[in-house]
Amino acid sequence: MTSSTPEQLEMIAELRALTRKFAQEKLAPRAEHDDRDEIFRPENIQALGELGLTGVPVAEEYGGAGLGYEAYTAVIEEIAQAHAAYAISVAVTGLPQVILSKFGSDAQKKKYIPALASGRAIGGFSLSEASSGSDAGSLKTTARKDGSKYIVNGTKLWTTQGDSAETIVLMARTGGPGPKGVSAFILEKGMKGFSLGKREKKMGLGSSHTMELVLENCEIPAENLIGNEGDGFTVAMTALDSGRITIAATANGVSQGALATAIAHAKQREQFGKPIAEYQGVSFMLADMATALEASRHLVTNAARLYDAKLPFSTEAAMAKLFATDSAMKITTDAVQILGGSGYTQEFPAERYMREAKVLQIVEGTNQIQRLVIGRKLVTNA
Ligand SMILES: Cc1cc2nc3c(=O)[nH]c(=O)nc-3n(C[C@H](O)[C@H](O)[C@H](O)COP(=O)(O)OP(=O)(O)OC[C@H]3O[C@@H](n4cnc5c(N)ncnc54)[C@H](O)[C@@H]3O)c2cc1C
Repeated sequence: MTSSTPEQLEMIAELRALTRKFAQEKLAPRAEHDDRDEIFRPENIQALGELGLTGVPVAEEYGGAGLGYEAYTAVIEEIAQAHAAYAISVAVTGLPQVILSKFGSDAQKKKYIPALASGRAIGGFSLSEASSGSDAGSLKTTARKDGSKYIVNGTKLWTTQGDSAETIVLMARTGGPGPKGVSAFILEKGMKGFSLGKREKKMGLGSSHTMELVLENCEIPAENLIGNEGDGFTVAMTALDSGRITIAATANGVSQGALATAIAHAKQREQFGKPIAEYQGVSFMLADMATALEASRHLVTNAARLYDAKLPFSTEAAMAKLFATDSAMKITTDAVQILGGSGYTQEFPAERYMREAKVLQIVEGTNQIQRLVIGRKLVTNA
């Protein structure tokens, strides 16, 4: 593992404390209510932006904090502990920033990144379609060049915050079948021919709206092509590689929330004349939960530090995502168990954490796909 200097660690601790204060004061109190009523509050992203927390890894030149992924994951974890939907919102708003920082033209960087990095605009990432999820390279939405614009037709599914995003990186087919025929575009809210379809009714993450995007002869200016025609799959996969680190950090926040809830309950709830925390059956569960979370944090920090050091990080990011999200599923399920019947009710946050954990095993590549990535690397290097 590469290491951070004491100064960097101190800065990250300060950033973590700042984020925790905001998240616990402003996000946590409304998490259950807003999750149930599927309310997303864009003003929370604006407020996070004002604190400098929506563009953490992006260069200062474009309005970001220029702090790297180790700092970014600390911010995401703290937000997720309070309300995972906003950690997802910050992470997804980060995707167009990371993409444009790496692949965008100077004009695209100047035009789009500052508003996203400051929380004045919300971002989106639209790759998935009804018939192409894990097999994203088989997507069917088409983009045909027509003079100074592209004419885009198709239906995208599962676009997180597609209804509030001003700037969405959208993948469409400009060439033949397979990944090489895919290009990436900047789609803006209000562009001619772009409308919203259904909003998914989900098991959890109610405050994070998951949208169908409908593109009917949608006109995207040719200057909104990112890189060259045919670069789209590489753009998408590069974004997903780093995105996996943020999903893993989200999982750690959810796990931390569940663990804290379980510890508090176990200390206070008495059965057979003493707190249930004093029974080894319960304290061993807590010990296993804490150990899995600690291991997940190390994997996330490792992947983030590799990214920050500009070293290869894809396999480590996949491992972090796989382990942290599978651990979150187990930790949150055990938290519900430790709360007994109360854990199954909406009066306590344990059931929300469990529903939040489930989706993290699916997004940014399912955990089967993470195993595929890791397994391929092992065999290729053997
Ligand atoms: C809440 C939510 C938010 C999302 N947000 C976005 C977003 O913002 N932008 C976006 O583009 N997408 C988004 N997605 C889509 C998400 O990325 C896909 O759901 C995910 O990639 C899986 O695709 P799928 O649902 O089509 O499942 P499928 O690909 O159909 O997979 C079904 C099952 O088959 C398994 N499977 C598939 N292929 C293999 C294989 N080769 N080997 C082993 N197992 C395999 C999978 O692991 C899974 O268990 C979101 C999804 C959800 C639920």
